[in-house]
Amino acid sequence: MFQDEAAFRFVGGRVSVDFTATHGLRWRDPSLERIPAPADLARWFLEAGLTDIPVPVSASALRSARELREALYRLMRGRVFQESLDRRAIDVVNRWAAKAPPAVRLTADGTAKHLVEPAVSGLLAFVARDGVDLIGSPHANRLRQCSSDTCTLLYLDTSRAGSRRWCSMQACGSRDKMARYRRRADE
Ligand SMILES: [Zn+2]
Repeated sequence: MFQDEAAFRFVGGRVSVDFTATHGLRWRDPSLERIPAPADLARWFLEAGLTDIPVPVSASALRSARELREALYRLMRGRVFQESLDRRAIDVVNRWAAKAPPAVRLTADGTAKHLVEPAVSGLLAFVARDGVDLIGSPHANRLRQCSSDTCTLLYLDTSRAGSRRWCSMQACGSRDKMARYRRRADE
């Protein structure tokens, strides 16, 4: 199945995990930066559903966002491979998690809620808080790295047995199945 490499991936199961996927193909040299410009980060906020209003992003906000992203990635990967957590990464995530997330409100019908007038720092605070909540909870034991050598995205395994091997069955799972099928056909 063809997928646009630069397209954002939302298979992580949590917004903080999906944020780490804005740096893709980490196994490859060069890897893939999915938010090369401030406008790309603004687009990610929209596609991730964190806001329905485009948010202006500055170059320095983009740098901060990437720093937060890499810190989250290091900590989550540390959880996947049961390594000790990087102190510096913890400091970066905590700094963002301490900031105020965007305000929320109920709509008139009392069901939906929307983020009100979000700013980049609030949205990053929201992502950082999600990361703290996840990394510091028992759910962190369900963090996985996709078994596909050409993917290696992180995701949260929410299957009952906790034995999911791929970030997405549609993409990496079916590719693996196809490869095994071909190998069998060759024998
Ligand atoms: Zn994958």
